[in-house]
Amino acid sequence: MDKKAELEKLKKEMDADKSLPLRTEETQLVFGEGNPDADIYCLGEGPGFHENKLGRPFVGRAGKLLDQTLVEVGLKREDVYISNVVRFRPPENRDPTPEEISAFQPYVNREIEIIDPPVIVTLGRFSMNKFLPGVKISQVHGKPTLIEWRGKKIAVVPMYHPAAALRASAIMQQFRQNFKIIPRVVVRAKAVREKEAEQNKPKPSQLGLVDED
Ligand code: URA
Repeated sequence: MDKKAELEKLKKEMDADKSLPLRTEETQLVFGEGNPDADIYCLGEGPGFHENKLGRPFVGRAGKLLDQTLVEVGLKREDVYISNVVRFRPPENRDPTPEEISAFQPYVNREIEIIDPPVIVTLGRFSMNKFLPGVKISQVHGKPTLIEWRGKKIAVVPMYHPAAALRASAIMQQFRQNFKIIPRVVVRAKAVREKEAEQNKPKPSQLGLVDED
């Protein structure tokens, strides 16, 4: 099955999963969207008012800022994949609880496995803490960390949430500055993957092509 079909199947599974929290008469599922072959997987927090209305991630003011900041570093929204740690809008846009985040986690993990991105850009502390537990965003924003996740090397780049950037001009400056590193991180993370693939290639002797004395 190709990635697009796998993601479609995952979305259907989620839609049918009545155990998921935050599903109400007023909420609709907001699944991830974007390029299934993206090098960059952006992970936010959860849908807000506009996302819930349209059933699409990052389409409100924070989303517009995300789109614009991607363009500033030579990327388009369509180049990346955009998703959230929780997929139904929390009431009054409150923070998702740890229980809610963990209920959605298997789906987020599966989505990441399907896309298999060399780079994950976390937007805000909830998605950052999935990969970098216990760190403070004020200390690590814009600093990439290479992690091993489910047997894959991934460069995680923690960013401030765009909604935080919209609330404070000092954060806005840092947010836009931090994005500038992304193209370089992609090049390096892909090189790490290529090196790993090269090392994991079976040697000719393992293929039985070389006579062994
Ligand atoms: N904020 C998020 O974290 N995600 C969205 O999809 C929109 C706003």
